[in-house]
Amino acid sequence: MQTPRRFAPLILLPLLMTVGAAQAQSTGEAEAKTRAANIAAYPDAARALFGQKTTPAALRARAIGSYARGCLAGATALPVDGENWQVMRLARNRNWGHPELISFLERFASEVPKITGWPGLLVGDISQPRGGPMLTGHASHQIGLDADIWLTPMPRKRLDSDDRENMSAVNMARSDWRDVNPKNWTPAHTRLIKAAASEPKVERIFVNPALKVALCREAGSDKTWLNKVRPIWGHNYHFHIRLSCPPGMEGCQGQEPPNFGDGCGEELDGWVEKQHQAIFNPPKPKPGPKPKPKPPMSLDALPAECRQVLLAR
Ligand SMILES: [Zn+2]
Repeated sequence: MQTPRRFAPLILLPLLMTVGAAQAQSTGEAEAKTRAANIAAYPDAARALFGQKTTPAALRARAIGSYARGCLAGATALPVDGENWQVMRLARNRNWGHPELISFLERFASEVPKITGWPGLLVGDISQPRGGPMLTGHASHQIGLDADIWLTPMPRKRLDSDDRENMSAVNMARSDWRDVNPKNWTPAHTRLIKAAASEPKVERIFVNPALKVALCREAGSDKTWLNKVRPIWGHNYHFHIRLSCPPGMEGCQGQEPPNFGDGCGEELDGWVEKQHQAIFNPPKPKPGPKPKPKPPMSLDALPAECRQVLLAR
């Protein structure tokens, strides 16, 4: 998703909470049904065209466009198993990224035991083989520079394919969504997110407001790394790492450097309150017929080169 400057419109909240929940559950049949229904409803939408590509485009590696409006040429896959990581939800085929992100993740995962004491990382969605919009979940993750990392430590054993589809992630938020649940959240979580945010290539980290409350409290005196850690709905089962555009990559549109400060004061209080209200005191639906949902993004809305990415071998 694009980073909202302040509060994402409240209307997005139910949608994003669903995305969060879907990440936690099995992708399984429900997701397959949604995919099929979305293809049938808009067969020419960008999400249907990119969502049905199963192999990368054999072109020079390029992140084309912006995180929530773009595509990916020359993607490489994160191997489903590494010494210090395991990829989850393999049926989604979303372990593809720009080679810079893939090598970043491999190196970062190798440092995780030292940072956290965990055996490694469980890796969620990165991008589709050719990036682009998806048939289920995620507004961003389109150019191969975004990755979701589970907040559940990697177990020592290799998970089998059933586990990888069905194992639930753990909700880190407390039941009132104003802070973390101390039963699940540990100092290692703060160390992990701090380490990711301190990486020079990382442009943003996204976490639920409830998690940022804990990070602000546990950061100690050096809060500068929190500048990159932005609150957003969902992201209570996983956190999201976004890399900057690789230097000199033409046509890759990054974000402005973060200029919000550490975001720990009033701004965060506002997010926490909005989220609490949206969950526990949601606005009543307006009477009358439901407004028609907006049609999904068309191929024309993406950079022109994305047509070549679709057509390439
Ligand atoms: Zn994400």
